Amino acid sequence: MRLVLLGPPGAGKGTQAAILSEKLGVPHISTGDLFRANIGEGTPLGVEAKSYIDAGKLVPTDVTARMVESRLQEEDAKDGFLLDGFPRTVEQAEILTELLTKAGQKLDGVLNFVVDEDVVVERMLARGRADDNEETIRTRLGVYRDETAPLIDHYGEEIISIDAVGDVDEINARAMDKLNALK
Ligand code: ADP
Repeated sequence: MRLVLLGPPGAGKGTQAAILSEKLGVPHISTGDLFRANIGEGTPLGVEAKSYIDAGKLVPTDVTARMVESRLQEEDAKDGFLLDGFPRTVEQAEILTELLTKAGQKLDGVLNFVVDEDVVVERMLARGRADDNEETIRTRLGVYRDETAPLIDHYGEEIISIDAVGDVDEINARAMDKLNALK
């Protein structure tokens, strides 16, 4: 299955993606994780991405798209993937469609994790990642509203909404039910 995961920062996409990846047998490809791995290793890509991430801004699309393209070409992503954190803008969605079309592929669906802003702020503050301070969180929520939320309209009928309030297993069961109904 080829799926995109959407939702505001702190919606729990990463947690759900890890479980879904195991159940569906496809890799979890998280742009945030890829950036953080590059930052940890001190690669040129990591050095470039770090200033944007620390400020809560989007890393430039050309850099991000190149990283995603090369990850999608790896062997384990041939038959499916869960893309988490990409696309984050309509421009990135168009790039993804182009990449998939070139490879003769298409998405099976777009899972949208639905959760209120006050819940995500609480979750992010509790998580305490380097970019989870109050100011950065506010910036990221603004970026989400302005740049990422329009993807819900962009994907239209491909959107599969999941209520992302509740415990991890419950949310996962909701997602699996909807995915099973797709087949
Ligand atoms: P969250 O889901 O909490 O927003 P992520 O780990 O997905 O966290 O992303 C962390 C940061 O990585 C973002 O705030 C942004 O700076 C950068 N990033 C991740 N994905 C993208 C993308 N598709 N385009 C541009 N920047 C991105």
